[in-house]
Amino acid sequence: MSLGIILVKDEDFQVKDFKDTIELVYNSTYQEDIGNVCYGNKDKCVDVDEVCKEGFVDTTKVGEYKISYTYKYKDKSLTKEQIVKVIDNVKPVIEVEDSSLKACPKEKDLNFKVKAYDEYDGDLTDQVIETINDDKVTFKVSDKSGNVYEVTKDINYSDTGAPKIALKGDATVYVVVNGTYKEQGAEATDDCDGDISSKIEISGKVDTSTVGTYKITYKVKDSSNNSKSVTRTVKVYQKNNSSNNNNTSKVIYLTFDDGPGPYTNQLLDILKKYNVKATFFVTNQGITKGYDDVILRAYKEGHTIGLHSMTHNYSIYRSSETYFEDLYAIQEKVKRITGHTSTIIRFPGGSSNTVSRSYDNGTKIMSKLTKEVEAKGFKYFDWNVSSGDAGQTTSSKQVYKNIINSLGSKSSYVVLQHDIKKYSVDAVEDVIIYGLANGYTFKPLTMDSPTAHHHLNN
Ligand code: ZN
Repeated sequence: MSLGIILVKDEDFQVKDFKDTIELVYNSTYQEDIGNVCYGNKDKCVDVDEVCKEGFVDTTKVGEYKISYTYKYKDKSLTKEQIVKVIDNVKPVIEVEDSSLKACPKEKDLNFKVKAYDEYDGDLTDQVIETINDDKVTFKVSDKSGNVYEVTKDINYSDTGAPKIALKGDATVYVVVNGTYKEQGAEATDDCDGDISSKIEISGKVDTSTVGTYKITYKVKDSSNNSKSVTRTVKVYQKNNSSNNNNTSKVIYLTFDDGPGPYTNQLLDILKKYNVKATFFVTNQGITKGYDDVILRAYKEGHTIGLHSMTHNYSIYRSSETYFEDLYAIQEKVKRITGHTSTIIRFPGGSSNTVSRSYDNGTKIMSKLTKEVEAKGFKYFDWNVSSGDAGQTTSSKQVYKNIINSLGSKSSYVVLQHDIKKYSVDAVEDVIIYGLANGYTFKPLTMDSPTAHHHLNN
């Protein structure tokens, strides 16, 4: 019997590929790495029985985590330590608002709009370091892990914006001929230069001895040569002279239907300013009620109070009786207010109206009434200039154009307007100025005035 000798080589834990340190970017997935471990020697190595792990890794927090692995085989054991580093290697970012890189020439007090943000540390705006070098600015920020971000931007020193300039006083100024034009000036400011009112240059002249329209220009330049200007219109007018009995004179009769109303006092103020007398064909309908004092004022100021209609309802054209009932009612009302019996009338719709056909049962009421009113001592007036303010026209400019485009060299113009329309009242001042500047005289209608009768259509 022989005893064989078995040669046993030294046995121990065999560890391969074990990492003492693992680096991990925060928020990435952590995976255990226990390496390759077996028990035995290089000829024969068997799996260990178990691996026990201690420690944890929080990948959401930057830091170092110690993990220990204990490998066990039968009664033997080996412990190895591993450091897991959760790191932040992402640079923060800086955003610069482009508009804040604009600055006035030589501006010292620059105020850049910058935001800095780091994915891990959050808002770092108050950590940004700003370095200005001539026309460049560098912004630098570092996060807590030492990741640095730096950006350089050009500073745009320039002033390209025009200054602002505004007139003091009204854009249109009226000066009576031989009166005084007072220069009220203007104000100007510039984004870079501030108040530059003192640099305003005024050009243009007003000859107050000559009726006409003058332009004054106010121009200002900032220190970067950006300029801006505004103009003022100065109208030198003459007052109307209604006692002008010159037979060659062309006369304008301004007439206003359907009032009085909320704008009639404004109209009376304008007429007074130019010493123009006009004619009001009044009613007692709708909004015109409650303006008796305005009728009285117009009368006292020398305007003619004509009669239009008490109701302004076209059903008055049913018959002579219904028409005159309405006419006498407004006549009485005017007499009660002014003490004067007016016999100057205007038919609602004018004498040429066709609306009366809808009410008169074919009796040709307008042909009848035009004779009957004369027989009863009235005088009716139509018009030969329409402002259009009862139709399509709804702007002062257009009312003005409609009127002045209708004026020519005839001896008399009877103009139809409605003083219950503000845009129409607003056109009157320019109509007067135009008329006075072009040799017209304004007069109120009287029993002797031209009637501008229309062709009858019913
Ligand atoms: Zn009317």
